[in-house]
Amino acid sequence: MEPGGVREPARETPLYGEFDVVVLGGGPAGIAAAAGAARNGVRVLLVERYGFLGGMGTAAGVTNFCGLHANVFGEIRRVVHGIADDLLDRMQSLGGLSEPHLVLGKTHAQAYDVSAFKCAADGLLLADGVELLFHALAAGAQRGEGGVVDALFVETKSGRLAVRGRVFIDCSGDADLAHWAGAPTEKGEGPDAMLYPTLMFRVGNVDAARAGEAWSTVASRMEAAEASGEFRFPRRGAILRPQKHPYEWRVNVTQLRKPDGSATDGTDARSLSAGEIEGRRQIVEYLRFLRACMPGFEQAYALDIAPQLGIRETRRLVGEAVLTRDDVLGCADFEDGIGVNGWPLEQHVAGDVRWTWPPIPQSRGYNQLPYRMLLPRADRARGVDNLLVAGRCASMTHDAQSAARVSGACFVMGQAAGTAAALSLRKGCGLRTVPAALLQSRLREQGAFLGDA
Ligand SMILES: Cc1cc2nc3c(=O)[nH]c(=O)nc-3n(C[C@H](O)[C@H](O)[C@H](O)COP(=O)(O)OP(=O)(O)OC[C@H]3O[C@@H](n4cnc5c(N)ncnc54)[C@H](O)[C@@H]3O)c2cc1C
Repeated sequence: MEPGGVREPARETPLYGEFDVVVLGGGPAGIAAAAGAARNGVRVLLVERYGFLGGMGTAAGVTNFCGLHANVFGEIRRVVHGIADDLLDRMQSLGGLSEPHLVLGKTHAQAYDVSAFKCAADGLLLADGVELLFHALAAGAQRGEGGVVDALFVETKSGRLAVRGRVFIDCSGDADLAHWAGAPTEKGEGPDAMLYPTLMFRVGNVDAARAGEAWSTVASRMEAAEASGEFRFPRRGAILRPQKHPYEWRVNVTQLRKPDGSATDGTDARSLSAGEIEGRRQIVEYLRFLRACMPGFEQAYALDIAPQLGIRETRRLVGEAVLTRDDVLGCADFEDGIGVNGWPLEQHVAGDVRWTWPPIPQSRGYNQLPYRMLLPRADRARGVDNLLVAGRCASMTHDAQSAARVSGACFVMGQAAGTAAALSLRKGCGLRTVPAALLQSRLREQGAFLGDA
């Protein structure tokens, strides 16, 4: 930002309401956190800056669930259950969920329609009694006695409002609330220190019969196109896959960087603006490539450019436990395991995507996620003891985050965070002293798979 600033007058901020649990962010983690808390008998508000739920899954056009499955000793199995099951059932009944498809011959992912995700998520949370506050951009927090978070400030069409809660769950993806509250967070700096973002788009009017298995030929056609001197791509290869309706394909191929070559920063206003513009410029180029070089795509058009840049990584909590690369590749277990991550390291580095898997078929293909990765590290939390952080901004190293950031693990972390928040309020204990065995048995009763079967 520029030097200097403008001093605003102090003001009384109207109170929107007081809740047992306030969840910031309505992505996979926030949806599961809100439902998890409400199903355990507390009053929940979910605050979301857009007018719909789904997070990167809808707002960034991801349209594909990863991490719901794992390669377990050579056999692909579904390893994420609980609230994710209910959401997927609702999407299925809306006709918006594809059958799982193979990814690199090793595991499954599952494509879906954006609209089905949005509508199913509304239905799920309303059925659980969660109050939804849309079009509310959280912009700051106030701490109360002892340092706990007392209020979240949101900017809305009714002006700036305050929301009070007894427990807050930060599912913003960017650890916004943790950052404002003074809980410890970290963010990579320099080339390859944060995963590179992608502006997603979908194309319509694809001739599916002629396109065939275009996902397996797109990389070599891109190389040939570059060799001809006609095209230059910022990233090798592309994820090009059909959606439920075979004339519609999603394209995960752009890569956004700052002038110094490092990843566009999803917590920096200027960087985000430049990234959106550059993303659309790249999409125009890719569309030209698809029409010119990919059979079946000659008449394709940009059906949708995602409403926002797809941000893979920004701030991460520094928690009581930090999930590591070795935990993911070594399929670690934890005494306070709350569910599993079955996705490999998927590192969006400068100009490329690097995959690293736990051994197949020798390993069970998934690691447990510890409850402590949702808790700010006590000795650095400055009294912020009523906050949990779930989803892609939970406590993980940069490498581990490239795996457990996908939807499957975010559903797991969210459900556990919501359940733990409710248990702490109902038992009258702090978030840090929720008994692991109690949390685990409650999660199992509510359909979750903890990875210890
Ligand atoms: C380009 C791209 C492709 C991907 N591909 C896949 C894939 O194929 N499959 C897969 O499973 N995963 C994929 N991922 C990863 C996955 O989508 C995300 O990591 C996942 O959505 C993270 O979930 P989350 O709930 O932690 O955060 P998010 O999905 O980021 O949700 C955060 C929510 O918080 C809201 N929010 C943030 N800040 C504020 C604020 N200050 N005030 C109010 N609301 C706020 C946001 O609007 C959003 O709804 C991809 C990610 C990207 C970027």
